[in-house]
Amino acid sequence: AKRGGAGEFRFFASHMELKAQEIISLDQLLEKALENRWFVFFYQPYFRAEDLRLAGLEALVRIKVDGKIYNPSEFIDYLEKSRFLPKFEEWMFEEIEEKARRFRVPISVNVSGRSFSRRGFVERFLNKFSGEDLSLEITERVFIEDVGYASDVIKRLRGRGIRVFIDDFGTGYCALSYLRELAVDVIKVDRSFIQGVVEKKRDRDLVEVIVLLARRLGIESLAEGVETEEQLDIVKKLGFNYVQGFLLEKPLPEEELLSKYPEILSK
Ligand code: C2E
Ligand code: CA
Ligand code: CA
Ligand code: CA
Repeated sequence: AKRGGAGEFRFFASHMELKAQEIISLDQLLEKALENRWFVFFYQPYFRAEDLRLAGLEALVRIKVDGKIYNPSEFIDYLEKSRFLPKFEEWMFEEIEEKARRFRVPISVNVSGRSFSRRGFVERFLNKFSGEDLSLEITERVFIEDVGYASDVIKRLRGRGIRVFIDDFGTGYCALSYLRELAVDVIKVDRSFIQGVVEKKRDRDLVEVIVLLARRLGIESLAEGVETEEQLDIVKKLGFNYVQGFLLEKPLPEEELLSKYPEILSK
């Protein structure tokens, strides 16, 4: 699918005959996706760096219709600004609740800045979940608005046993002040840094210090977007707690996930 103008979206029917090709708006796609339950989570595992054992799963949303899969880059920005966000959150709550009950490994969920900033969402989350093995991934850029609020919410989430990950760490503007103000569990060092660790000494040095700094503050670290053996080798040496990326595993549909990692249900 290709994006046209603002909010416009080319939507191809499964038959793919030219005349069956419809152009509907992204708005319509989302509306239908909610109506017909086309949203699904794929799950990308992450692993302990020391022995590459499965440590948890990241839930990544997709729209699945007629055998076609839409990735979040095609709809998530629009969705987050649209009137569909509450309904999407609703779906997400239900889905995660069910999976958290069934899966015996930690699950992390990406939360948009809009959701995180809404008291209603946060209260709902706090009331609904407690004791489940859940983490929230919040991107660093979200906190810029109100660090006091963020810090308060994070404390309450952690008080409920929900872990907090800072996503895309290093891509915002004042990573250090976040580490100072926010008591989080894990930082996910952005893929753009991990890509540089093999060839760019400067990136490698920077990442090394981030990992050390985090550890000193009692925060765990995860290297995201590990794509090559060389990168894996280096991030292990740099002392990351966790690794994630296509080299280790791609985001998988639930069925494939469970057949490849049966320990998710048994253990
Ligand atoms: P993110 O949270 O930083 O997720 C990581 C993205 O990088 C995922 O893309 C994943 O498939 C991809 N990735 C993982 N390993 C590698 C790798 O080794 N190489 C490369 N090139 N890419 C890798 P995805 O699933 O398309 O998600 C994109 C973004 O959409 C996510 O970035 C997240 O910000 C957002 N997103 C995904 N699911 C949700 C959701 O349920 N809610 C919200 N609010 N946002 C979501
Ligand atoms: Ca994430
Ligand atoms: Ca990320
Ligand atoms: Ca990202």
